Amino acid sequence: MKQKPPVHKDQQIEYEITGLAHNGAGVGKYEGFTVFSPLAVPGERVRAKITQVKKSYALAELMEVIEPHPDRAEPVCPIFAECGGCQAQHLSYPAQLRLKRQQVMDSFERIGGLQGVIIHPVIGMENPWRYRNKAQVPFGRRDGKVVAGFYAPGSHVIIDMDACLIQHPENDRAVAAVKRLANELDIPPYDERKHHGVLRHVMVRVGVNTGEMMIVLVTNGEHLPHKKALVEQMKSRFPNLKSIVQNINSKRTNVILGPVNRLLWGSETIHDTIGPVRFAISPHSFFQVNPAQTKVLYDQVRKYAKLTGKETVIDAYCGIGTIALYLAQDAQAVYGVEIVPEAVEDARHNARLNGFNHVHFEVGAAEEVMPRWLKMGIKPDVIIVDPPRKGCDPALLEAVVGMGPKRVVYVSCNPATLARDAKVLDEKGYQPVEVQPVDMFPQTGHVECCALFIRNDK
Ligand code: SAH
Repeated sequence: MKQKPPVHKDQQIEYEITGLAHNGAGVGKYEGFTVFSPLAVPGERVRAKITQVKKSYALAELMEVIEPHPDRAEPVCPIFAECGGCQAQHLSYPAQLRLKRQQVMDSFERIGGLQGVIIHPVIGMENPWRYRNKAQVPFGRRDGKVVAGFYAPGSHVIIDMDACLIQHPENDRAVAAVKRLANELDIPPYDERKHHGVLRHVMVRVGVNTGEMMIVLVTNGEHLPHKKALVEQMKSRFPNLKSIVQNINSKRTNVILGPVNRLLWGSETIHDTIGPVRFAISPHSFFQVNPAQTKVLYDQVRKYAKLTGKETVIDAYCGIGTIALYLAQDAQAVYGVEIVPEAVEDARHNARLNGFNHVHFEVGAAEEVMPRWLKMGIKPDVIIVDPPRKGCDPALLEAVVGMGPKRVVYVSCNPATLARDAKVLDEKGYQPVEVQPVDMFPQTGHVECCALFIRNDK
């Protein structure tokens, strides 16, 4: 029988932090019981107050660091602790990279039960700040003024914010400009509780390699007062602005974008590039938020795929086709499959944009489409999978193995599910050879991996 948890709510404990959890929290054992404490650094002894007790673990609030660890860093952002957007600014950047690698190693050992897989040091950024190409900022009112920032933890009160240090500086400037204009022109922000007012969110996207900027004003309903003045002012302030869109979201919901886009000025899409490949991005498109590191990641995929120009490649979970199109430069044929129809439309559009006619995209669940492709006689040399956090469907892994590619390259945003799936692939004759983690999200607890599996030929 499982033991009763040795802690209770509001209890203060002293314990040793031994690792970094996937959400950036420090984790350690208290009387054999797992306790997570955000903002605590591995190697530290801390005093913490239990805030929540679950069956197999507890959460605690850091009260005092008894022995600070040299990995501890002063957070650069003044609102780091309240905002919650980043989880790792209290760690020096080299420590972040080291601990993320350790997380991957632990997952492979504990969850995958796999030894001898090479886990390379994480490839970090030279400058791990200001990397995000997309900002989505909620608007509200405080003390009579329009404010824009982030929700205070556990609430829907908006804390005003002037700068986000992981955001592209142009995005910050654009949000600040809209906020100023909303105050000057008296454009009412949305009030979530009363479900009235106008401006809900402002989304800004910037093509970091092209400079092109898109501003999306998310409104509660059709009406947007002073539309013309707003557009004129933004145009004159931001010479790189290419597109201003009104997105209508009239629902009581936490989902940021509504279904309808109205072009207020300019073009419907902006462009960005990853290496030589060009992508069109519209308000609803999914596009990697850190393009510099995306290139690093995709170059790794390309290296592991070992393409010579003669291969057939499948990109399962292809999204808007970024990996498929990146690899198309060196492959004979590429097939992408993705479950969201709009993403596949974007993928096809992007294939045309780059003049690729040897890339085919299909809508559907990869685990259903791939067996069909096999029956049609498609024999891939390499299969790329890049699933959501929950990892690959067992049927998908079955389909991958059934197609018998020489190489499988697995891109993962969750080391735990990667390790679980690596075990399955290993049992089915695909050896996990090496893993290259890439830091796509500096200052946060997230880690992205690229893993290579090679078919065992007896
Ligand atoms: N490779 C892309 C997208 C990866 S995100 C990129 O780097 O941009 C994972 C994608 O898998 C999402 O677009 C999601 O819609 C899709 N997806 C989820 N389940 C799926 C399934 N069963 N079959 C195919 N695609 C799926």
